[in-house]
Amino acid sequence: MDNAQIADRLDALASLLELAEANPYTARAYRRAAETVRNVPTPVTELVQSGRVRDLRGVGPGIEARLRELVDTGQIAELTELERELAPDLVGLGRYLGLGARRSVQIAHALGVRTADELRAAAAEGRLRTVPGIGPKTEAQLREALAQEPETRPREGLLLNRARELVDTIAAALDAEPAGDVRRWRDSCEHLAVVRAAQDPGPVLARFAELPQIVALIEQDDRRALGVTVEGVPIELVTSAPERFGTALLRATGAPAYVDALEPLPDAPDEATVYRKLKIPWCPPELREAPFADAPPALVELQDIRGDLHSHTTWSDGRASVEEMGRAARDRGYQYLAICDHTPAVGAVRGLTPDDVRRQAEEIAAANEALAPFRILRGIECDIHPDGRLDLPDDVLAELDWVQASVHGGQRMPEREMTKRVEEALRNPSVRCLSHPKGRYINRRPENALNLERIYAVALEEDVALEVNGLAPRLDLSAEHVREALGAGVQIVCSTDAHSVRGLENIDLAVATARRGWATANDVVNTRPLEAILRG
Ligand SMILES: [Zn+2]
Ligand SMILES: [Zn+2]
Repeated sequence: MDNAQIADRLDALASLLELAEANPYTARAYRRAAETVRNVPTPVTELVQSGRVRDLRGVGPGIEARLRELVDTGQIAELTELERELAPDLVGLGRYLGLGARRSVQIAHALGVRTADELRAAAAEGRLRTVPGIGPKTEAQLREALAQEPETRPREGLLLNRARELVDTIAAALDAEPAGDVRRWRDSCEHLAVVRAAQDPGPVLARFAELPQIVALIEQDDRRALGVTVEGVPIELVTSAPERFGTALLRATGAPAYVDALEPLPDAPDEATVYRKLKIPWCPPELREAPFADAPPALVELQDIRGDLHSHTTWSDGRASVEEMGRAARDRGYQYLAICDHTPAVGAVRGLTPDDVRRQAEEIAAANEALAPFRILRGIECDIHPDGRLDLPDDVLAELDWVQASVHGGQRMPEREMTKRVEEALRNPSVRCLSHPKGRYINRRPENALNLERIYAVALEEDVALEVNGLAPRLDLSAEHVREALGAGVQIVCSTDAHSVRGLENIDLAVATARRGWATANDVVNTRPLEAILRG
């Protein structure tokens, strides 16, 4: 059993514990352990056998016992038990219908059904009303929901990283192409879809229904199916004859308003041919929101990025050392990486004092010797106090190669104060970039009341860049604000805000968001060589 397989089992256990509405910390602990296992280079089987698995971050005695069981017997009894108890396909269908996991399980037990199909049959026979707690009204609602046109969107959009992972896994398993909102890199994905060319769609549809991610089919006809995951998230599979694949892919990619404006679409085996037949230039999926038929600009590409200017280490809340982060960035082909750990005012995690900043400089110098000509930049993610002061003295900031200014606490300020607070920080000559300018957490909390028009003007005056933060819950600036900022003449930076080596991979989310905001390589500071960054 390799590390990826072990990690999958731990993830499955975490999901089922969540479904069982167990202690959320337990589920989270298994998820964290799964991530560790997935990333550690040594085979975990060996670590278990030699009794060293507890050396791994996040593996305590409880998880060690589960790992030992998995290595010794090939399974985890609790997981098998939960799968039997919970019937994930019933829970998935239940979530999709708006029932909690526990309630779905109760109803299934009361009816003596084990699968989603049996539940449907029981409902059709009118047996739902025999379940304690289900009156005629609830019964009618559930029967209606089961019979109705299936809802093709999740109740709340999925974050882009989660949606991509799901759609990419399903696409790979079916040899299909990812489409829908994921292909357009939307920051909150509602329409999940994959498209597969097939002369005979039967076998593809059958495989789709059997995928471990798909716990129930909501709808199926000869060419397409709608499945639902254990979380109750609907995913569409579209199949098409190979000679019409390009047309099907374009339609399933959307957005509807963009596609509608191009209809009627000609049949073609690939997208390039569809566009050729329409006599308009090919359009990158990131720009397919509103109707558009002109030549697109030369959008910034992942390969244009020469370094990452926002990352954390174990000096604050990161998980890797300065040198580990530097080495990983070098291995990605970058020229530079700015280490921007937090300052004390951030509160929840450790922040660097002026003393720490100078001690970290020594560590960075040593790592630079080991990694030359790659360059680790001395940076900081400096908190902006509510009164606009920065959290480190000016002379300390002036020593650094790259200063990010960030609002973390006190985000509920009225717009005038918040704008003044940020403006003051941007006036500091050491500040090079404003981190996650709007402070949003997608689907979780509203954006800061910040007057961006004003901030664009100040950023332009002070030659400060605005960040496109690549953390999936942030993606801040958003695409629409990137477009506004560029229109105002402001430069942007595509950053990952990586808190681990793996976090550096999020650069694709930052770049895609910039592309959705029509950014070219010229608009993005970290497409420039090291000398240009240092010159300031
Ligand atoms: Zn931050
Ligand atoms: Zn950060």
